[in-house]
Amino acid sequence: MDAAFLDELRGLVGAASVLHDPLQLLTYECDALPHLRESPSAVVLPASAADVQAVVRACARAGVPFVARGHGTGLSGGALPVKGGVVIALSRLNRVLEVDVENQRVTVEPGVTNLEITRQVARFGYYYAPDPSSQQVCSIGGNVAENSGGAHCLKYGFTTHHVLGVEAVLPDGEMVHLGGPLADAAGPDLLGLVVGSEGTLAIVTKVIVRILRRPEAVQTLLAAFETIDAAGGAVSDIIGAGIIPAAIEMMDALAIRAAEAAVAPNFPPADTVLIVELDGPAAEVAALFGVVREVCSRRGATAIEVAQTDDHRQRIWRGRKAAFAAMGRLSHNYYVQDGVVPRTRLPEVLGRIRRLEAASGLRIANVFHAGDGNLHPLICYDERVPGEADRAAVAAAEILSYCLDAGGSLTGEHGIGADKSRFMPQMFSPDDLDVMQRVRLAFDPGNLSNPGKVFPAPRLCGEVPGPYRRHPAEAAGLAERM
Ligand SMILES: Cc1cc2nc3c(=O)[nH]c(=O)nc-3n(C[C@H](O)[C@H](O)[C@H](O)COP(=O)(O)OP(=O)(O)OC[C@H]3O[C@@H](n4cnc5c(N)ncnc54)[C@H](O)[C@@H]3O)c2cc1C
Repeated sequence: MDAAFLDELRGLVGAASVLHDPLQLLTYECDALPHLRESPSAVVLPASAADVQAVVRACARAGVPFVARGHGTGLSGGALPVKGGVVIALSRLNRVLEVDVENQRVTVEPGVTNLEITRQVARFGYYYAPDPSSQQVCSIGGNVAENSGGAHCLKYGFTTHHVLGVEAVLPDGEMVHLGGPLADAAGPDLLGLVVGSEGTLAIVTKVIVRILRRPEAVQTLLAAFETIDAAGGAVSDIIGAGIIPAAIEMMDALAIRAAEAAVAPNFPPADTVLIVELDGPAAEVAALFGVVREVCSRRGATAIEVAQTDDHRQRIWRGRKAAFAAMGRLSHNYYVQDGVVPRTRLPEVLGRIRRLEAASGLRIANVFHAGDGNLHPLICYDERVPGEADRAAVAAAEILSYCLDAGGSLTGEHGIGADKSRFMPQMFSPDDLDVMQRVRLAFDPGNLSNPGKVFPAPRLCGEVPGPYRRHPAEAAGLAERM
């Protein structure tokens, strides 16, 4: 990056807010998908929306690509820097701007963490519903960009259902306001377009979210099963009985082992556990909870543990929410895959994953949002063993193909990012991709905002996307041999 451009950035946000030293840049080389790494040319730490706008304008003038970064917990390489580009890290935009309990909304800067919103309104009896397991650390800007989900999204919906409006800087530096504090903004839903656009359409500098009243009652149980099929049968029966739980989560034996090693939730011995949570009016919860218990027993649950206190409930959730990070206790490296299938196809896809585990020789743990069919296989590998990282990448790709075969999708909630853009042509036709490109280019004709993410190369409108690029190990025939 030329020195004059760096000086221009320093002039805009102050020298201390522009990182250029290779050691300082190390932190920004990757997100939570560490096998994809790139060093940016510079990292800028704006302190206000006006700073973001000035930096984006400078990049647009100079034709320098830029990547928005929240707190770097993304699992699809969305915040992976672009070679020769600037990372615009939004962690200093971390102010809560307005808490408006009467109108059930909170306005924050993008660097505020997800959980901080709930902390701000808890004393009024409210909370912010989307609850990614990373909620203590991930930013609301990142949540908007990824349309993040969480355990309670089965009943309450994803981030997109809770964002009322945003302020955002377009790739040419123009600042826009999309949506707003009112329930329904006039005109086409441009807000809906920006939510989930993974930093490719705009940089969000302010977010207005809807908050919800805490339900009168919450009841949580943990049921242990001897097979994943029995647990899957219980999920189908619960939903078939017309019950929409606040959450239904499943963990298999390996995921349980990891959680026990990390946070000791003291789960009963099991091949699979199911966590079911109901919330709502107390009478309704009490009645439906009885049905859930009865279903679990009928499906052969070997133990059913009902949370008796809030501490007990927190302990159960700690076991689930720690599961990803806990895998680090059992494996030197692991790859978190994210795919989604129709709920009814879960047993079939899980069966294929079990067979893949045996064929690949890699341990695969399963932790997932069973209610909405969102799978999170955790593929264990050791990068120090030659070839294992490649085999893990191939196994992760295989799992996506199982999801597509079952009528599912490439991502349930972690986004496409840099990791899965090459699979987009497996799911979408050239026409579909062309339309997506046209939309993207309407926002970013210079292709500067997070280039290389989401969409497969080539990115120019009207060009037919290239075929799915095989991972080198796949090309070498590893997939067939596994
Ligand atoms: C242990 C663990 C558990 C997780 N659990 C869940 C889960 O349950 N559900 C779930 O959905 N995800 C989960 N995630 C993934 C991740 O936390 C979410 O995707 C989160 O929304 C990313 O937020 P971030 O601030 O870290 O964003 P980053 O990783 O910094 O960025 C993610 C993407 O958002 C873009 N971006 C960031 N900020 C902005 C902005 N202000 N404007 C425009 N674009 C922006 C970036 O360019 C990038 O494309 C988990 C991750 C980990 C490590």
